[in-house]
Amino acid sequence: MNNIYLDASATTPPHIDVINKLKEIQFECWGNPSSIHKVGIIAREILERSRLSLANKLKASTDEIFFTSGATESNYLALKGVTNNLDKGRIVITSVEHPSLNLIANQLLNDGWDIKYWPVDHHGIIDLDLLDEMLSSPTKLVSIIWGQSEIGSIQPINLIGRECKKRNILFHTDATQILPNGLFEWSNLNVDMLSASAHKLQGPKGIGLLMLRKGIQDLLMNNPSYGFKNGAIRSGTESVPLIAGFSTAIDLLSEYVEVTDNQTLFPENNVSKMTSLLKKNLIKNKQLTFIGSQKERLPNNLSFLCHTESMIPIKGREIVRLLSKQGVYTSSGSACSSSSQGPSPTLVAINVDKSLQESALRITIGPWISNNDINTVTNIIFESLQSLALKKQ
Ligand code: PMP
Repeated sequence: MNNIYLDASATTPPHIDVINKLKEIQFECWGNPSSIHKVGIIAREILERSRLSLANKLKASTDEIFFTSGATESNYLALKGVTNNLDKGRIVITSVEHPSLNLIANQLLNDGWDIKYWPVDHHGIIDLDLLDEMLSSPTKLVSIIWGQSEIGSIQPINLIGRECKKRNILFHTDATQILPNGLFEWSNLNVDMLSASAHKLQGPKGIGLLMLRKGIQDLLMNNPSYGFKNGAIRSGTESVPLIAGFSTAIDLLSEYVEVTDNQTLFPENNVSKMTSLLKKNLIKNKQLTFIGSQKERLPNNLSFLCHTESMIPIKGREIVRLLSKQGVYTSSGSACSSSSQGPSPTLVAINVDKSLQESALRITIGPWISNNDINTVTNIIFESLQSLALKKQ
């Protein structure tokens, strides 16, 4: 039986070094880092060492790094935190955000904020002709997903961030799907707040990152739902093993993405090579239509619509199940939305034909995938598509 995991954007297998680190810290440094005795001090030292290592890797300072339970919570803290301390106005998000961010936007709408959705073109990239309109008064906060989790498109976050800065607008980005593809340099980003999750890069689940520029941290402090301590952005006992495991996962990433004003340039590595190879194989198949920008995209992501050669739709969920029976694990969209019925808002936003809105298949690759896996997967996908097409005729 095959066991080929192609759903890295949902989660990744923890790296063996991460598992060993978790075990070591869980056994030896289980103290509460707020305790002032030796057991607590040892835990605090591990925590701060991990924070420093992570900050160094991301070219940030340690006091800009806050640990959360994951990107969902980071998104929540960022948006709810700052809006709690601002006069109401407009928030701009894109029409292709992760469901966790859409949920917060809906809550803020109920709280009296005006929420504006920045439309995307059929590649999933925001329309820059709308920049002045989107960033006009009374916009107070902009939140843009950097690398889209379903269709892989990349937004020009540095350009938007710079324009926000000029206009005194706060800027948040969800970088959850960027980090597995390369380290960024926080000091060179025009971003005020950034969210990420460790389990997308072979780190542990239940630990994430919220990066915050020093100048705006006051806005997030003493949030009634989180900070019971004076000056806290997030309270509760820190999970030292998870934080150390996150830091180990970041250590395993060594390459940097280059972020220019309107492009995110990823390093070429085994993951991008395997993804390109699979794309080269799959593009020959007339039952697949690739979606998302083919230029500005996450280098580990392939997404396409599945259909017969005469364009009769094949449901993404159907093919995911059939592939799973053969030991090949893919997704019909974002893991957070693929369990819900109905079309994905992202596919609607990029104007996918209504009949094909439930036909997406997403493949996301990680460093564990080999050349052999790619050949096996190509054959299995081709055969599965053919057998599903036969049933439709
Ligand atoms: N944002 C994006 C872009 C994601 O892909 C995910 C995970 N699917 C999240 C946020 C939420 O991450 P977590 O489940 O780790 O909180």
